[in-house]
Amino acid sequence: MNYRHGFHAGNHADVLKHLVLVSLLDALKKKDAPFFVVDTHAGRGRYDLAGLQASRTGEAKAGIRKLWALAAAMPTPPPALARYLAAVAAAQAGAPDSYPGSPLIVSQALRPQDRLAACELLPDEANVLKGVLSHDPHSHVHARDGYAALKALLPPRDGPTKFARALVLIDPPYEAQDEEYPLITGAVADALLRFPQGIFAIWYPIKQRPSLHPFFRKVATLPVKSALAIELLVRPDDSPLRMNGSGMLLLNPPWQIEKDIEPALKPLAQAMGEAGASWRLTWLKQDKA
Ligand code: SAM
Repeated sequence: MNYRHGFHAGNHADVLKHLVLVSLLDALKKKDAPFFVVDTHAGRGRYDLAGLQASRTGEAKAGIRKLWALAAAMPTPPPALARYLAAVAAAQAGAPDSYPGSPLIVSQALRPQDRLAACELLPDEANVLKGVLSHDPHSHVHARDGYAALKALLPPRDGPTKFARALVLIDPPYEAQDEEYPLITGAVADALLRFPQGIFAIWYPIKQRPSLHPFFRKVATLPVKSALAIELLVRPDDSPLRMNGSGMLLLNPPWQIEKDIEPALKPLAQAMGEAGASWRLTWLKQDKA
């Protein structure tokens, strides 16, 4: 595997993913009951936007750095955007060129009753992540395949404590895109047998839209109450060679999460988009209850 997230940290896809993640965590925290988070592809937890990898691609420059500039000029950013930016700022802990990965964002959102299991396959990335989360007794790093770990981690428990709520973030590198989709849908189908009420958040890249259709068709057959795709396109989705945007596919999302997230998408497109940038929310399956 060649993928290293350091080249892409803080890009438009990270921004969308982490904004949605913060909104999901906040929705879960509306109730006192504990929740369990599984991050199947966690990465190293903290990235240096001034470092060699980020500087080589310039993706953060076209991503979070543009959003920071726009937000600084906004008198009242939409609440979900403000909460995402606050989460990033809190994780930076005074280091303005650092950017948090998903496990650090989750870790700092946990309450004493909540837990995180963060899976990372690459030993060097997992070791860095262990250091980043070493202060947090409620987060545990699993240096292993996240898809296989899901089988052991669901239904969620911590010693004698069983959890009635869980969020599973699936954020693979898509090095071979066509091979990743069956891994995702297979893992989610199995996880739903173990924990049908789980909330799943699956990140996916968008190049040309038709390549997504088989994946969405498969997802629509999964036994979930609802499925919502939240997408940000930084340019039209007509180039097969570039990542034109990305999406977060939410299975069993918290009630009315779209109302929190939608107002934040316009500023994301304004800040990080080129000509033809857009955003959209699409229900693949909607709970009529
Ligand atoms: N979720 C992270 C975030 O938002 O900060 C970024 C994750 S990055 C897109 C994907 C990560 O998954 C990489 O660090 C890669 O080493 C790791 N990885 C790849 N295949 C994996 C697997 N089967 N199980 C667990 N981790 C894997």
